[in-house]
Amino acid sequence: MKLTFYGGAGEIGGNKILLETQKARVFFDFGTPFTRNEKYYDGFDFLSPRDKLGMRDYFEFGMLPKIKGVYAKETLQDCDLKYEAPAFDAVFLTHIHQDHMGDVGDIDSGIPVYLGYGAKKLNDAYNTVNPYFKSEDNGNVIEFKTGDKIQIKDITVIPVHVDHSTPGAYGFIIKTLEGVIAYTGDFRFHGFKGNMTEDFMKAAKQYEAQTLICEGTRVQSKLEGLYKKNMTEADVESGLYEAMKASKGITYANFSFRNIDRVRSLYNAAVKAKKVLLASPGFFYALDNAGQLITGLPTLKNNKNMLVFKKDADISDDEKRILNYAKPYLANAVDYKWVKKNIGDVVMFASESEFSQLIDIKPNKGTFIYSMSEHYLDGEGFEAKKDCLQNWLEHFGLKFEQIHCSGHADATGVQKMLNGVNAKTVIPVHTEGATAFKDMCKSKVILPEKDGTITI
Ligand SMILES: [Zn+2]
Ligand SMILES: [Zn+2]
Repeated sequence: MKLTFYGGAGEIGGNKILLETQKARVFFDFGTPFTRNEKYYDGFDFLSPRDKLGMRDYFEFGMLPKIKGVYAKETLQDCDLKYEAPAFDAVFLTHIHQDHMGDVGDIDSGIPVYLGYGAKKLNDAYNTVNPYFKSEDNGNVIEFKTGDKIQIKDITVIPVHVDHSTPGAYGFIIKTLEGVIAYTGDFRFHGFKGNMTEDFMKAAKQYEAQTLICEGTRVQSKLEGLYKKNMTEADVESGLYEAMKASKGITYANFSFRNIDRVRSLYNAAVKAKKVLLASPGFFYALDNAGQLITGLPTLKNNKNMLVFKKDADISDDEKRILNYAKPYLANAVDYKWVKKNIGDVVMFASESEFSQLIDIKPNKGTFIYSMSEHYLDGEGFEAKKDCLQNWLEHFGLKFEQIHCSGHADATGVQKMLNGVNAKTVIPVHTEGATAFKDMCKSKVILPEKDGTITI
């Protein structure tokens, strides 16, 4: 059988792994690389690929692989790759991060896309909050649950849950006539549900996986030094609490609310610090949807520790422009005037696009908590953003604090996975430090190359 790495080889993210057996052709993940626009577009403020024209601009610069029989007909207008009927049996997605599913909206709807049940529900909720994002579901999504056995011609795919910074993340055990492959997706052991990653590791061992495709984001990362060693989600919660307690004014927290574990940590810390958590209707809509899938999440109803914040723009907007999902949340919302009066008792969650709220609130002291993934801010190419953030914080007298733990296992965690599965062959993906794997295990380590094929 053959494995071709159209993405995720020698890079963090953008995983697109094709498995071909005698009968089946199946993709595992179909993500967008973080660096896709780096070479031809990132330097321009007013230039981006013309999405309306489908693949044309992407193919010109080699930003998407030209694969026959995978893309939808309408994406290939006037492209040198001509449309062909679907030549693939399925796409299996590990989780709903863009670097794993970002390009799946472009594939032919005749190819089924397998996505975890909870992941699908959450993705639908996020798409409701941000309807301007391209929908990933072209009516071809099939949901699975952990432990299902999905037969695709001569292979059986068994999804097993793992812990990561978004709920509904899975690894796959893939049984073929020529042996068993285990693919980790993105994982960590140090979250609230690290035992789920243990479950995957044990299943891979139990099925005697001979080949392990393993992520290694933090195995040898330039950014590793920026994070406190061995920080767990529980440590993040206590860090958030300490920062809230010490804050001399407003506490302002910034991260992606797709990170539901972090939402829970922020809430728990706010309750302990006797502060009220304020956030947008979108935040609470996502939390309510996640609450139907995950036990132990806070609910907004009759909760004196959480309040909906109504932006000034929402007040002056006419009713039509207030999105349907937001309406029920705005009924008991508070505004910036309320925040001004209660500023020392408030923890405000805000995404980057909501920073303008600060202009209305006008804090002159407090703490800004940056609790975000390592892909942002500290990565190269974000200098301008870093400078602007610094200027906003100085303008409003806010102290910067970074409190974060990664969605990915550190080198010790990856080592644990390698030892636990003990596969004959290991293929590192989603990492810039693939060579480091050679010192971490006795297995044969094969380094994948971009667009390269490995026969196993
Ligand atoms: Zn990833
Ligand atoms: Zn991820």
